[in-house]
Amino acid sequence: FAVPAIENEPMRSFAPGSPERAALQGAIGQMTAELPFEVPIVINGKQIKTGKLGSQPMPHDHANNLCTYHEADSSLVAQAIDGALAAKSEWESMPWPDRAAIFLKAADLVSGKYRYKLLAATMLGQGKNAWQAEIDAAAELTDFLRFGVKFVQDLYAQQPAKNSAGAWNRVEYRALEGFVLAISPFNFTAIGGNLNAVPAMVGNVVVWKPSPMATYASYIVHQIFLEAGVPPSVIQFVPGAPEIVAQQCIKHSSFAALHFTGSTFVFKQLWKDIVANIDVYKGYPKIVGETGGKNFHLVHESAEIRNAVIQTIRGGFEYQGQKCSALSRVYVSSSVWSGGFKDMLLAETEKIKIGSPEEWSNYMGPVINRPAYEKILGYIEKAKQAGGEVLIGGTGDDSKGYYIKPTVILTKDPKSVTMVEEIFGPVITVYVYEDSEYEQTLKLIDTTSQYALTGAIFASSRAALIQATNALRNTAGNVYYNEKCTGAVVGQQPFGGARASGTNDKAGSISIFYRFVSPRSIKENF
Ligand code: GLU
Repeated sequence: FAVPAIENEPMRSFAPGSPERAALQGAIGQMTAELPFEVPIVINGKQIKTGKLGSQPMPHDHANNLCTYHEADSSLVAQAIDGALAAKSEWESMPWPDRAAIFLKAADLVSGKYRYKLLAATMLGQGKNAWQAEIDAAAELTDFLRFGVKFVQDLYAQQPAKNSAGAWNRVEYRALEGFVLAISPFNFTAIGGNLNAVPAMVGNVVVWKPSPMATYASYIVHQIFLEAGVPPSVIQFVPGAPEIVAQQCIKHSSFAALHFTGSTFVFKQLWKDIVANIDVYKGYPKIVGETGGKNFHLVHESAEIRNAVIQTIRGGFEYQGQKCSALSRVYVSSSVWSGGFKDMLLAETEKIKIGSPEEWSNYMGPVINRPAYEKILGYIEKAKQAGGEVLIGGTGDDSKGYYIKPTVILTKDPKSVTMVEEIFGPVITVYVYEDSEYEQTLKLIDTTSQYALTGAIFASSRAALIQATNALRNTAGNVYYNEKCTGAVVGQQPFGGARASGTNDKAGSISIFYRFVSPRSIKENF
């Protein structure tokens, strides 16, 4: 069958006075009036309450919870796994057009009926402003689902190039034998959806452990999957402690794959745990993860200054730097730095408004929680102790929400701590290099960090772009020319990095689907 023509979901502008703005405001008002919500575990389509409650405070108003949620114990994790495995055969043998229809319907529910509810939950729960929420929970989630169907269609069409006389060769893309464990992060509602949808679309069953800091939005996504027709046991919604949910899944003989987005530390730990259990499994589990970043902007002497400054602010400070792809280290040519970049960067950063995501004029909101708040301020302190100069920002206010001012640090030591380690907050560190030392700077960028997720090169010289792209061959999985290092679009820039940033299986592209199938070759003689 032909997949319906697919476009990226158009984004709403929320212009003052627009019906979209009013609708979103209405959804936020309604959610605020009803909170805190009580989120159950959902296994085999049944809502289960254990009474062991976790809570999701709102980052902009931490005295109030968006929701409390029930945490699974090990007997429920066992139930989730058993239920998923029991549903597997019917799900994987469902005709592909029917599975496809379910996810296309889910996309319609995200982009239509549930759009504003998802946005409100992402704004109140994860501290995103309306536009950041729209990019994530409306546009990217819809795109993951719609383009996902097209990618699977294209994958299934990959067939042997040749048949010998009297025979027909074909490949069947089976689901994995066993179940998939999906562990999702707080920072993108869309990623939670995608970590489940990718394996489920190709016929797998999934146990989902959502981030505690994104429980409510994740629950809505799960409800959407059910409403769209995903059979009740195919995606099990299992909030709970990692040592219970994740560990129990990983110890199960039918554990077939991990689909993970989160920190490098946790991913490595899970990988080690999987290795330790290798003799328990029927097969070799697939391990698919997108983890940390230490993403760079390189500003060459030929760069257009205004664009480089605006993109630097956007890459570093949008969503408070809480994207794996967020800009964190900036290498600027000395002539550009003193020729306007520094002054413009500080003047534009000064103008940034920060505060509650419900206020339309705020460009930045809170960081996710207290540990994040303290960790980020701790990095700013460490930078100062190492001789870094805070040019702007550097302070926080946690009286009501977890606010940290957009911060620019200037360092003379290109290997100082905030040039090397992931911060996951609104902090960029600038190193100014001599124009004559471009080549050495490229080497420096490549050797400074363990990560290799994203990077951007600002130059109007084609030769400078080529030189950097070659020298930085392994330094980033997503490279941008003259644009910020964040904001990969599904179907346009396959997303992911290597080294300590992940397995580089490229979300938002066909590649990731190959990881969740087990192809079977069939040769038939006529
Ligand atoms: N795909 C997002 C981007 O390109 C980042 C996702 C993440 O933070 O994990 O900005």
